[in-house]
Amino acid sequence: MANIMKKKIFYITTPIYYASGEPHIGHAYATVNADLIARYKREMGYSVFFLTGTDEHGEKIQKNAEKENIDVQKFVDRMADSFKKLWSDLGITNDDFIRTSEQRHVETVQKVFTKLLQQKDIYKGKYKGWYCTPCESFFTEGQLKEGHLCPDCGRECHEVEQEAYFLNCKKYVNKLLDFYKKNPNFVPDGKLNEMIKTFIEPGLEDLCITRTNFTWGVPVKEDPQHVVYVWIDALLNYISALGYMSNDESKFNEFWGKDSTIFQLAGREINRFHSIYWPILLFALNLRLPNTIFIHGLLVTRTGAKFSKSLGNAPKAGPIIEKYGLDALRYYLGREVILGDDGNFTAKQFVDRFNIDLVNNYGNLVNRTINMIRKYFKDGKLPSIYRYQNAKSRQVISAMKESIKKYKQEFDNYCPSKAFICAMDIVDRANKYIEDMTPWVLFKENKISLLKEVMYVLVESIRVSSLLLRPALINKADEALDQLGVPLEFRQFNTLNKNLCLNKLKVNAPSALFPRLDVDKETEYLASLIEAKK
Ligand SMILES: [Zn+2]
Repeated sequence: MANIMKKKIFYITTPIYYASGEPHIGHAYATVNADLIARYKREMGYSVFFLTGTDEHGEKIQKNAEKENIDVQKFVDRMADSFKKLWSDLGITNDDFIRTSEQRHVETVQKVFTKLLQQKDIYKGKYKGWYCTPCESFFTEGQLKEGHLCPDCGRECHEVEQEAYFLNCKKYVNKLLDFYKKNPNFVPDGKLNEMIKTFIEPGLEDLCITRTNFTWGVPVKEDPQHVVYVWIDALLNYISALGYMSNDESKFNEFWGKDSTIFQLAGREINRFHSIYWPILLFALNLRLPNTIFIHGLLVTRTGAKFSKSLGNAPKAGPIIEKYGLDALRYYLGREVILGDDGNFTAKQFVDRFNIDLVNNYGNLVNRTINMIRKYFKDGKLPSIYRYQNAKSRQVISAMKESIKKYKQEFDNYCPSKAFICAMDIVDRANKYIEDMTPWVLFKENKISLLKEVMYVLVESIRVSSLLLRPALINKADEALDQLGVPLEFRQFNTLNKNLCLNKLKVNAPSALFPRLDVDKETEYLASLIEAKK
């Protein structure tokens, strides 16, 4: 049997954010988690392409610009800049930022429309039905919730009739159901069931994909008083950004090719478009489908209210980063919430997580260990050792190997939160090990050989946990490794299971990685940023 190495190619996308208002912490949650996964995959040796961007067309944006009495292009330019600034402030490592008002995107949308029109997957007809203005979505009466409410956002819909173009969805519905059956993890955690029940089982209607009641969109070349429905326009960003149907399709061929693992994050309210219409578009274009559409939850306030601009309760990330640091916010957003679920963002939880995980556990372990090495060994130089002789040491080291394995499994299942728990388990065990081994007693009793070993187990625990935490702690993990004097060649994931203790080590002066927060004072301050704005 031929030994085929699977190519390590990974394409990850966030939803593109609707540029109708300024970004807030709810947007940061999905993008930070995507960034954690992208960084993890790069550490694992994947060639990664990480895409985010802004969805800039549609009636709502046109209206918001009109309200401010500003040119709509200028309006979306400003919004796109705010999103870009937030991602840069958060250390997001996206490889591209796609804007749907960009020429490169508009061209792809028009070419796709023409192709599908020519092959009769798009046809002109008359639309009669129900319309949700905030969602810019049409529905049949059967799809509405009781009281003519929108099935996506729950607001009231109104009846309309207009000439429009349609995407032939009926043609692909069996193929779609077949695909779901063969790929049960396409939309994980059973989040496809409701879509099938609400939209497919009653009979999937062809989708109305053009609008004539406003102009801010991609014009249909063949019929310019129509603009392409914002959702069809938006979905195509995932391939327009890779250069699909452009002069240079090399990125598209690599990252949308058969060897690529394609992982797409989408919020619950856009599940329908990503799990039903996106596959149908790809079928019509004769392209492969993503491996995973991952429906993420929402970040909510203490009272369970969703963060949103319209509710006026959405904190900006800027002041939080300024006060508590970039790493702390990234760690909180990755650790506190399981990516598929809804999670809380509350002041108390943030301050507690900061003090418990980052100050008491991780920061304290680093500080204590460095201080002990400096105290017990001349010039902070730890002599080499060749194997661990004590049973407790060996236990800690073998439990660490188990944690590394589990960490990778959790990240491979797209669960940064549980992966970070595995990393923190290593830290917890190391702190416990200090209490068990009482190095200060070993020093007093001049048991230097065992003392050396204990220090090495601690160094190794810090080295490994720092590497595992580094997707979140993008500055502090390396700061810890610098203080510890860990050479650069021992800071790669492929050294996780190598023992650093064969090397000589010289530690540097320690300084606190995270300042302890005064719980009452900081909870009050943070709450004034988050929860008071109702
Ligand atoms: Zn709606």
